Amino acid sequence: MRHFAVVGSGPAGFYTAEALEKAYGDRARIDILDRYPVPYGLIRFGVAPDHQSLKAVSKRYDKTAESAGVDFIGNVAVGHDVSVAELLDLYDAVILAVGSPHSRKLGIPGEDLPGVIGSSEFVGWYNGHPDYADLDPPLSGTHAAVIGNGNVALDCARILSKTRGEFDGSDIVNHAIDALDASAIRTVTILGRRGPHQIAMTPKELGELGHLDAASPQVDIADFPPVEADDALEPGQRKSISILREFAATPPDAAKPKRMVFDFFAKPLRIEGDGKAEKIVVERTELDEKGGARGTGETYEVPASLIISAIGYSSAPIEGVPYDDRGGKFLNEGGRIADRLYAVGWARRGPSGTIGTNRPDGYEVADLVAAAMPPGSSSDRQAAEGLKSLLSSRGVMPTDYDDWRKIEETETANARPGSPREKFVRHDHWLETLGRK
Ligand SMILES: Cc1cc2nc3c(=O)[nH]c(=O)nc-3n(C[C@H](O)[C@H](O)[C@H](O)COP(=O)(O)OP(=O)(O)OC[C@H]3O[C@@H](n4cnc5c(N)ncnc54)[C@H](O)[C@@H]3O)c2cc1C
Repeated sequence: MRHFAVVGSGPAGFYTAEALEKAYGDRARIDILDRYPVPYGLIRFGVAPDHQSLKAVSKRYDKTAESAGVDFIGNVAVGHDVSVAELLDLYDAVILAVGSPHSRKLGIPGEDLPGVIGSSEFVGWYNGHPDYADLDPPLSGTHAAVIGNGNVALDCARILSKTRGEFDGSDIVNHAIDALDASAIRTVTILGRRGPHQIAMTPKELGELGHLDAASPQVDIADFPPVEADDALEPGQRKSISILREFAATPPDAAKPKRMVFDFFAKPLRIEGDGKAEKIVVERTELDEKGGARGTGETYEVPASLIISAIGYSSAPIEGVPYDDRGGKFLNEGGRIADRLYAVGWARRGPSGTIGTNRPDGYEVADLVAAAMPPGSSSDRQAAEGLKSLLSSRGVMPTDYDDWRKIEETETANARPGSPREKFVRHDHWLETLGRK
């Protein structure tokens, strides 16, 4: 028998557990650890609450969690409650699937002013992440800005622009829907350092902006290269650009009070304000020979009392695990960090790709593990038993999959009409539901 610890219960963790189970059958036990009693990582805390069909991927993960060789051990923060070195003593291999929970910094003056927040905080706030329940983003001004030209920037802009009714059927948390309903924001400017051809936005997410109840997209046709240039793009990108071109050709709907303004070739230089964010000073850019953004020296101001930076994420370093500062992930070669220690998903590759991109990652690393300790080989490691006694000596009470089910049932029972669940937004509330507080 072999014993594996997968740290992190997001997509990468679950795909890895699934792959290990396929490779080893009943000749391995796999424990999926997570810092929270609730699984699924960014499926719960990242993917937008109004994109419920995407969240349904967790049904596949449930199957893995319910299978005989896999256990979920929640409420255990690795690096805090137990070290990676201790896990390596207890298990044959440890696979870090801890994701990239921190927003990348803008690195410009003024970014620490109140009103400037990272997308991980804002997204966590509307998705019920316990760390951001008290974020209280400033929504009393009329102008907001989102910095970044990827799907996360689109999510943030869309959430700021929707009406209460448009959240029907979503699992946005109550504190967020109430605050957004009372929001005064009428203009959300989406700033990108380069042009339309360089966006990392997918057609479905862009297309949605053309059908919002109270908001219209606004795009300047002057930002586009000649239409023939679109032929060189790959089909998905070409579709995205054609949607943007349609937006540019359609005057904003005067009956809709809100605007989502795409400001391309715009490089934020600094954020200014009297004790809080009031505006971004931006430099106009142009593309250089290599397709990068080159400043033109022309500057202007974008008013915004809420500024969300959506320019990427980085993993949280864990003691004893080599870390790649530039890439914001663990140092690894094809998923291998060191002997018996591996990384998958965003912790391995950095924050890019879709949920499905994490599947081949998990399978590749499971292959590496199986090559190093072939199915049928065995060891006498203490695994879960040893882990639980170590945690108990430290006063840490792990939770299991049945506990998660109990939390889920309670969240479902508490849901407002039409919504799949009302998430608990505090760690304590999860534990209270389990009678552990
Ligand atoms: C805002 C946002 C929206 C997105 N929307 C989409 C979308 O619509 N469609 C799509 O395909 N993809 C989307 N993605 C991308 C997708 O969410 C990621 O590809 C995927 O979640 C990465 O999986 P992961 O398992 O590597 O990390 P995560 O999903 O982040 O999972 C990491 C897990 O590790 C746990 N963990 C972290 N540190 C520790 C620790 N020290 N000890 C124990 N546990 C720990 C966390 O609690 C978490 O459960 C989105 C991403 C973001 C940020």
